[in-house]
Amino acid sequence: MNSVVTFPNRIPTVEFEERRFQVYTDRQLDKIEVIQNLPEETLFEMKVVASVLPFRVNEYVINELIDWDKVPNDPLYQLVFPQKGMLKEEHFERMAKLHREGADKKLIQSVAKEIRDELNPHPAGQMEMNLPTLNGEPLEGLQHKYRETVLFFPAQGQTCHSYCTFCFRWAQFVGDKDLKMASTDADKLHGYLAQHTEISDLLMTGGDPMVMKTKHLVQYLEPLLQPEFDHIQTIRIGTKALTFWPYRFVTDKDADELIELFAKLVDAGKHVALMAHYNHWQEITTEISEEAIRRIRATGAEIRAQGPLIKHVNDDADAWAKLWKKQVQLGIIPYYMFVERDTGAKNYFEVPLAKAYEVYREAMKQVSGLGRTARGPSMSAGPGKVEIQGIAEIKGEKVFVLRFLQGRNPDWVQRPFFAKYSDTATWLHELEPAFGEEKFFFEDEYEKMRKGNG
Ligand code: SF4
Repeated sequence: MNSVVTFPNRIPTVEFEERRFQVYTDRQLDKIEVIQNLPEETLFEMKVVASVLPFRVNEYVINELIDWDKVPNDPLYQLVFPQKGMLKEEHFERMAKLHREGADKKLIQSVAKEIRDELNPHPAGQMEMNLPTLNGEPLEGLQHKYRETVLFFPAQGQTCHSYCTFCFRWAQFVGDKDLKMASTDADKLHGYLAQHTEISDLLMTGGDPMVMKTKHLVQYLEPLLQPEFDHIQTIRIGTKALTFWPYRFVTDKDADELIELFAKLVDAGKHVALMAHYNHWQEITTEISEEAIRRIRATGAEIRAQGPLIKHVNDDADAWAKLWKKQVQLGIIPYYMFVERDTGAKNYFEVPLAKAYEVYREAMKQVSGLGRTARGPSMSAGPGKVEIQGIAEIKGEKVFVLRFLQGRNPDWVQRPFFAKYSDTATWLHELEPAFGEEKFFFEDEYEKMRKGNG
């Protein structure tokens, strides 16, 4: 069926075919034709890993984004298909044995749960420290870590059009209720926002809120146009739909309503920002992905790009430079380069901080001023977002120069601090204070905050 998509008073649009959304999970690996040509051992490894870590991929990603001539090294293949190295040797062997012996589903699931529990499913204290309350009741599906920003996890948005193998929210997807954060309650969200006038930014996140029907988004967002929510200036929506399913913004049945919702929010004076998750320029190589970007920008909403630096996917300065250049060309604002979090298949994906900084710097050198808006490499750690600003030698000591871009205490923000240089450290907790100090300046206060909540 042809669907002609136009948007009033905007640039004329090309005609795009509606596409049926077809998705595969770990139970349908054998239905994905193109992978049946891979070695049998590879397929077995996929099956083993996918029984522990979430797996989901859609037909558009398989047919349009992955370059099958480059598999297994293709970055988009690595981004969505499970690889043996994602599990520790002992975990892999334990699960592989069950599959070889034809163990029943229940046993596989209970062993998978044990393994997952060892993979730090909720990093950076998100379950214990960020849960707000309304009239004394804890509010499931909300996180309030930084003063100005609330994260909301709508229940209808706790999945994605495909899953990234390195996802730091992977625990949301494995069907374990204990590991899940989600809320269906629009009233509670609005009640909390109305009471907290210090909040200026609402971040809708998931999973991917763009898997939701537009009518649900309307229910959450339109009430924010009432005067009691004037303090909510910015509505951010974290999404990877521009990569995994750009049809969401162009030809899906309620795509036009979605675009109209963005325009309505913008026209009413809200700043609407899509926080688009991108890892590699190969994600923006189709016409439909460009059309989705064009339609969103035509509403006055802006798109900011962010994503982690991931071994096997984008640990390469040229790839980042090409991505940022492409984003700037399309009117997207490069926003963050993150460090892969300490959770899930971290061992497979992590990049030492020293290397992350080099990749960032080498990529920055290649782009114009408009591409240099990306901050990073940044760690979303327990105390806050910590950026590696540089590597320096001060009075004979080689150090990392760090600063908080966000802090649990706003007073920590922008304060430079120093850690001993390390070739191997991959996360904040592996760093030691420089210059003979015993602790970083924020540690005592952060410890008190943890105990207060613990
Ligand atoms: S799109 Fe985001 S939430 Fe979804 S799987 Fe990828 S990293 Fe995770």
